[in-house]
Amino acid sequence: MNSKRDYYEILGVGRDATDQELKSAYRKLAMQNHPDRNPESKDEATEKFKEITEAYGVLADAQRRAAYDRFGHAGVGSSAASAGPDLSSSIFADFGDIFGDLFGFGDIFGQGSRRGGSQRGADLRYEMEIAFEEAARGMDSKIKIPRWDTCAECNGRGARRGSQPSTCPACGGVGQLRRQQGFFTLSQTCPQCRGAGQIVRDPCPECKGEGRVRDEKVLGVRIPAGVEDGMRLRVSGEGEAGAKGGPAGDLYVIIRVREHPFFERHGSDLYCTIPISLAQAALGAEIKVPLLSGSEKLRIPEGTQPGTVFRMRGLGVANLESRGQGDLYVKVQVLIPNRLTREQRHYLETLAPSLRVENKPVPRRAQENVRDSFG
Ligand SMILES: [Zn+2]
Ligand SMILES: [Zn+2]
Repeated sequence: MNSKRDYYEILGVGRDATDQELKSAYRKLAMQNHPDRNPESKDEATEKFKEITEAYGVLADAQRRAAYDRFGHAGVGSSAASAGPDLSSSIFADFGDIFGDLFGFGDIFGQGSRRGGSQRGADLRYEMEIAFEEAARGMDSKIKIPRWDTCAECNGRGARRGSQPSTCPACGGVGQLRRQQGFFTLSQTCPQCRGAGQIVRDPCPECKGEGRVRDEKVLGVRIPAGVEDGMRLRVSGEGEAGAKGGPAGDLYVIIRVREHPFFERHGSDLYCTIPISLAQAALGAEIKVPLLSGSEKLRIPEGTQPGTVFRMRGLGVANLESRGQGDLYVKVQVLIPNRLTREQRHYLETLAPSLRVENKPVPRRAQENVRDSFG
């Protein structure tokens, strides 16, 4: 009677097994010994399955495992006894994930059973492509989404106006059918009413008893300034209508931002590269930098080196969180003419002796600085 086997032995793990080791040992054994997989030796498999399930039920619970480690079966006696033929549903709640993917019957333990058949509507996903400038500035837009909407004719009840849905005779209005199999109680969605618990004998002509109709809804959506590519905006309650009076799902607008011909964006900062001439770099100049709208002057000081980055404060994109404004970084690229006129050649040749530099390798640290500038 009291010759119960050691729980660790049953699962074939050491006393120091981790939760993960316990779980995988249990999964493996549960798979091998599941009664449904052993039709020839069903009773034996059922016993075995009960045994490993009981062992795992105790060892997977840190508190009960500690008690078992100290006092053996006596330490978990009462609960272990009740973990016998009618395994408590709370144990199975933890097991839901294991069984769910092992055997594909998560419904067995009552998860996924719905009362009265009302069902939340599905979330909708809408991809919205916007221009780079629109993302920076923000915009109001209208989107058209095809979706299920609550039927206005029957208010979502599915029954013809003036008539009442009647209680499903198969399940008595519960929406679920239960049957005993071994030590499990299987519950399954009632096939007659498909879980609704009610049967519409006189269906609404508009929605044919579905309670919802296919519709196209035009929604105004405000895109805040500073959105970025891939962001998701949730519009609560604008997804599909629920079935049989359930709540509506949500609408997710996924933002896709088109690329800009010359601006690059990181967060709220903008980056671009502007070429300047040899003379502008050496003598200094004032150039016009294009912005997302309009332009701004930028002073290039004399003696500007190729690759120098200028920061133009506050000329980036709105920051969604801080509500501040990012900066614009302009990198100058000094263009060396690849073809000189006879006159240019003459002047440069005249200048050349006074512009002589020592053609010696640059120290490594100085090289890194050059690479640090963006690009
Ligand atoms: Zn209707
Ligand atoms: Zn039913």
